[in-house]
Amino acid sequence: MPDYDAIVIGTGQAGPPLALRLAGAGMKVAVVERNLVGGTCVNTGCTPTKTLVASAYAAHLARRADEYGVAIGGAIAVDMKRVKDRKDAVVEQFRNGLTGALEGAANCTLYRGHARFLSAREVAVGDERLRAGRIFINVGGRASAPAMPGLDQVAYLTNTSMMDLDILPRHLVIVGGSYIGLEFGQMYRRFGSEVTIVEMKPRLISREDEDVSAAVREIVERDGVAVRLNAECITLAKRGDGIAVTVDCTEGAPEIVGSHLLLAVGRRPNTDDLGLDRAGVACDARGYITVDDQLCTNVPGIWALGDCNGKGAFTHTSYNDYEIVAANLLANDPRRVSDRITAYALYVDPPLGRAGMTMAEARSSGRRVLVGQRQMTRVARAVEKGETQGFMRILVDADTKEILGASILGPGGDEAIHSVLDLMYAKAPYTVLQRAMHIHPTVSELLPTILGELQPLA
Ligand SMILES: Cc1cc2nc3c(=O)[nH]c(=O)nc-3n(C[C@H](O)[C@H](O)[C@H](O)COP(=O)(O)OP(=O)(O)OC[C@H]3O[C@@H](n4cnc5c(N)ncnc54)[C@H](O)[C@@H]3O)c2cc1C
Repeated sequence: MPDYDAIVIGTGQAGPPLALRLAGAGMKVAVVERNLVGGTCVNTGCTPTKTLVASAYAAHLARRADEYGVAIGGAIAVDMKRVKDRKDAVVEQFRNGLTGALEGAANCTLYRGHARFLSAREVAVGDERLRAGRIFINVGGRASAPAMPGLDQVAYLTNTSMMDLDILPRHLVIVGGSYIGLEFGQMYRRFGSEVTIVEMKPRLISREDEDVSAAVREIVERDGVAVRLNAECITLAKRGDGIAVTVDCTEGAPEIVGSHLLLAVGRRPNTDDLGLDRAGVACDARGYITVDDQLCTNVPGIWALGDCNGKGAFTHTSYNDYEIVAANLLANDPRRVSDRITAYALYVDPPLGRAGMTMAEARSSGRRVLVGQRQMTRVARAVEKGETQGFMRILVDADTKEILGASILGPGGDEAIHSVLDLMYAKAPYTVLQRAMHIHPTVSELLPTILGELQPLA
């Protein structure tokens, strides 16, 4: 039975950097991957979707070319095979880079197969048994398919199978109006499909503030995406060569017939087939591995990183998990999950960048809150680019002057949010940002301006 200092299960966004760091520190490390190196982000998540979003943006801009005084001289055609080829090339480049790094590293062995705990110190991979004093779980998650009536009767796509598509669906019906559903929805509409997004809740991305949800709805509807909200009783059935989605909405037709169905209704952790009970590792009711603030499980010598611990659902949270574990283990630096500030983006176009509290959260925090806000129609850079949908908002504690949160929905919102985020990490008062000289013309240059126009939050 091979003896290792560490076993890393899964090559998501935390496992590979951790394995390389441990191996670099002289430990003998085994890494186990049952599918594609790089996990969700590289193969079926961030990288391919953002590559496809870029193709969809090119198609969208080409259709708008005339508005900019540019003559295309013909119809805009999207070649889905070439779109997929471009996506595949980027994904392969990232995956091969990571695979090469793991295979080429001294002290590191990459095993291909499904890992299953035999005990708190032993893992089976096919016929092999690996043993180590430290085991790091980075198994991620997969799309969930809740029990909807008729789901077993119809073919459906998930974010994974969408990656194999090289044709244009005539009518893509997406069940789920949150981050993943919205990105695919706008993208396929821009490629040329008819798209309907069906959401059970009364608004899209219901975690966001109501005006953010409304503005995002306006953005995708302007592209021609149909949005059906309050779809409480979704049932599915075959209809000819299509799929009928019955929705119990308060308005609109009670049934939508699409050619393809994408389920984007949430994700579940890959912990059900890991043999966690053999190791005694505890999970919550939804299967997320229970960890403390430094990502230790209840079993000494076993850590859980990334989406499978339920502490985050992003590449940056998974990578931050790696940094926390490495800092604690190798650098005597007691970094913690609770040190991090909520931050993420939604990659519709224009994108939404988010940091810290929403307005609803700030309101219920019991603090005295000030708010600064501006529509993108009043941001020079947005007007110059001809991309004036969306708005930006920043929330401040009136007493401590700390920034509580921000939402930037507009061109470059995913980038501009970082100056707010960094100030929040610095725990500096908002006046530092208010007095900063930002570059003209940018979306970011309005952050100091709106901080000079703060009003009490009603
Ligand atoms: C469509 C989509 C778009 C996304 N876009 C973004 C984005 O733009 N930005 C962002 O920050 N996040 C995005 N995410 C989320 C992001 O992909 C994940 O949060 C990120 O990949 C972190 O995952 P992870 O490190 O937990 O593991 P994963 O990336 O899920 O990898 C886990 C790995 O473990 C392997 N594995 C599982 N079980 C076993 C086992 N028993 N034995 C061996 N190997 C095993 C799996 O095969 C997989 O390779 C997106 C997700 C989706 C689905």
